[in-house]
Amino acid sequence: MSAFTIASTVNEAVALMADGARVLAGGTDLVVGHRQGKAPLPDRLVAIDRISDLAGFEIDDGTGELRIGALVTHAELMTESAIVDSYTALADGAALVGSPATRHAGTIGGNIMNGSPAMDTGAPLVVLGARFELVSGRGTRVVEPGELWTGPGSTSAAADELLTACLLPSRASSSGSAYVRLEYRRAMEIAVVGAAASVELHDGGTLSSIRVALTAVAPTILEVTGLDGLTGRAVDDDLLTAVVDAARAQATPISDLRASDAYRRHTVGVMAQRAVAAATARARGEHLAVPVNRSIGVGRKGIQ
Ligand SMILES: Cc1cc2nc3c(=O)[nH]c(=O)nc-3n(C[C@H](O)[C@H](O)[C@H](O)COP(=O)(O)OP(=O)(O)OC[C@H]3O[C@@H](n4cnc5c(N)ncnc54)[C@H](O)[C@@H]3O)c2cc1C
Repeated sequence: MSAFTIASTVNEAVALMADGARVLAGGTDLVVGHRQGKAPLPDRLVAIDRISDLAGFEIDDGTGELRIGALVTHAELMTESAIVDSYTALADGAALVGSPATRHAGTIGGNIMNGSPAMDTGAPLVVLGARFELVSGRGTRVVEPGELWTGPGSTSAAADELLTACLLPSRASSSGSAYVRLEYRRAMEIAVVGAAASVELHDGGTLSSIRVALTAVAPTILEVTGLDGLTGRAVDDDLLTAVVDAARAQATPISDLRASDAYRRHTVGVMAQRAVAAATARARGEHLAVPVNRSIGVGRKGIQ
């Protein structure tokens, strides 16, 4: 028998999930996918969009950690000053999602729990050091992205675990971040490839830390490893070339209708380089408007 319930508390939602109901947040994947014939709607649904505890942003007074409620939409992410000022890569990613209608209905929680390697918030969340809070009748656990995402469209969350929030550590004022996505056209496109970068600079302008993560070139969002050796160096052409080489070497893309594996491997290096350059410019205090794709001209004729 099919059933649709609107939950008003986390406990209520979790109890219904333990009883077999599937969560519905903004519905831009679940309902749109059903309408497009990709997957039937589950028999039992629990709508969580009225649970006020899952909405909004909160900064911890002690640690400075930012808590983003699972129901925060892409439209909120791209305009909230805390995100635009300090977690800019996440604002860049949210601003590229679908159309204005998709961004107003689609939530960060739905994007994370879809587990798509092409999700636009994924690489930004990885480089910004995000952790995810999952709640079930057994209690609360907090997991790293690498623990949650297990393959294309799959997560390690149990069927009765509700994602309640995404937690981001505080950011130093000398840090910057950016997310750049290859675009064939300017709207309604799932990423062909993308890259996010987060950097922190020493007073003299050399790197004190760097993280880079890649979109749509592996079964899950892929963090580039082995970049620690770049710290202490200036962000110059040589360093950017090292980032390109590492990204291309670690990517394991597939070929599909939209791009060959070779093209994805090539362009993800370019996106990684641009993301590091843009993140560094932001760390230096330069203003590159959100989404950075527009500021640096990705997708403009002749600059692809
Ligand atoms: C036209 C169109 C364009 C799009 N373009 C992009 C794009 O450019 N980039 C991109 O990344 N995505 C894109 N998407 C995908 C989609 O919009 C996003 O993934 C969105 O963030 C999903 O959020 P939602 O709230 O709508 O999820 P829903 O459809 O409500 O749910 C998605 C999945 O997550 C589960 N879920 C949702 N919330 C929770 C929770 N709190 N805890 C546990 N499980 C949960 C649901 O059960 C379901 O399995 C597009 C979709 C459409 C229709």
